[in-house]
Amino acid sequence: MGKKFVILDGYTDEPAGLGVPPYIDVYPRYIAGAIWDVDRESKIIYYTIDEVRSDPSAFFRDAASSNMVIVVAGVVVPGKYIGGRPISPEEVERIGRMLSNVFTVLAGPAARFGMGEEGGKPAISPSRFRGIYDAVVSGDPEIYVKDVLLKGEEKAEEWIRRKDYSEIDRFAILGSKIVKQHPNYNYNLTAEIETYRGCSRWVVGGCSFCIEPLYGKPISRDPRSVILEVSALYEEGVRSFRIGRQPDILVYGSEELGKKENPKPNPEFIENLFRELREKIGNSILHVDNANPAVISAYPEESKKAILAIVKYHSPGDVLAFGLESADDKVVKINNLNVTFDEALRAVEIVNEVGKGIGYNGLPHILPGINFILGLPGETSRTYEKNLEFLDEILKRKLLVRRINIRKVLVLPNTRVSVIWKETLLEKNKDRAKNFIWIVRHRYDPLFLRSVVPPGTILKDLYVEKVGGNNYTYARQLGSYPLIVELEGKFDPPCVLDARVIGYKGRSVKGVPLNSCRSS
Ligand code: SF4
Repeated sequence: MGKKFVILDGYTDEPAGLGVPPYIDVYPRYIAGAIWDVDRESKIIYYTIDEVRSDPSAFFRDAASSNMVIVVAGVVVPGKYIGGRPISPEEVERIGRMLSNVFTVLAGPAARFGMGEEGGKPAISPSRFRGIYDAVVSGDPEIYVKDVLLKGEEKAEEWIRRKDYSEIDRFAILGSKIVKQHPNYNYNLTAEIETYRGCSRWVVGGCSFCIEPLYGKPISRDPRSVILEVSALYEEGVRSFRIGRQPDILVYGSEELGKKENPKPNPEFIENLFRELREKIGNSILHVDNANPAVISAYPEESKKAILAIVKYHSPGDVLAFGLESADDKVVKINNLNVTFDEALRAVEIVNEVGKGIGYNGLPHILPGINFILGLPGETSRTYEKNLEFLDEILKRKLLVRRINIRKVLVLPNTRVSVIWKETLLEKNKDRAKNFIWIVRHRYDPLFLRSVVPPGTILKDLYVEKVGGNNYTYARQLGSYPLIVELEGKFDPPCVLDARVIGYKGRSVKGVPLNSCRSS
């Protein structure tokens, strides 16, 4: 009889990686794979934090009779989620304290970098959880868990890190079957897939607020391993994939990755990867995340080819999220950000040029997303003007943007911003920030939304996710940054339907269903 383990997924959200439902990130999959790598007979029970909230006794019963409980936690780029509510620091503490008779491990960004519930504040340091959990893993949790099982708790090192992907590739395949325990399995479950770790801007220190450069020199996965993992997940029943766990999908496979700040994309590599992925996953959803606009403007031809290669094999409605963060050159300089106003505009133009064609599900193939961060050192009233000028210029040129993300800086320990940031900065610009968010949400979002999904657009395969108050239901397509569609009436999940766009509400659209619910 094998040992018993419990993985509690408190959800994760990082610059390169999402694990809030319907997404499952790599942590629970790799950790499960490490356990099964040591002993195939082990029993692993997976819980999400939302399941624990709705039935705590089942979780605590399983946890109390297990050999180890691993809690995965840490939102370091806080957002608003409709698919689940990430674990709070208080819950991390409370659950750890209630499991004093079992070996407990805290894993994920909360243990490595810290965690925050909202931007504009220093994050909670991992040290807050030491003494509550038996191990707070600042290294790679799957390697640590494997070492505990092979060498014992005393000899396993919490700070141990992978040197390459040799073990991970094995764990990723073995751990793929954990997806069957996810509450979104057989419905809208989306697997986040890793291609490489670390940012190419590591060579120049990286952006002041970002954790990615803390990983050091980027290490890449062999594309054959990525394909094998995706195939294994497909075999287990996953039908939606996002190749999102990397700072810039366009430079995966570049010979210059890790050597130059802006590596030259390798379109042939990208084409081979996406062609093979498509061959393995039938008509499943295949999306990407994250691209560096500085790379696109520095290598327009290679970038266009690489984006075209993605468009050839992916699913429409895809997003290349651009970490612009600020359109103010002064803030760019002080925070060592990666792109200037003009470079970012050029990159938006290029993605539009090759990506704005409409796909089968009613959405453009691939569009840029723009990320702003408020409260960075160097920010003044001029910063907010420049940010709006940037959006005006996009509108003037009749370019499309899929979505605009605005967040307040989350100050994480060990990042450069933690040394230079002052709380007074956000206080000083509080009204400006509020105004900026209001203007973007009320002026720019509706304008961009209307261009991306004009009235009458038919959106296919919307998965009902939440029944709201006032007789409304929220549904989304599968994939990267899906658009929220508000439907009048109550539709209980599982329910998949098509709808026609009839109006706009903030960052969402209003739709009328065109057919009755299908199960998936
Ligand atoms: S470009 Fe900047 S924000 Fe993006 S991953 Fe690299 S360091 Fe982080």
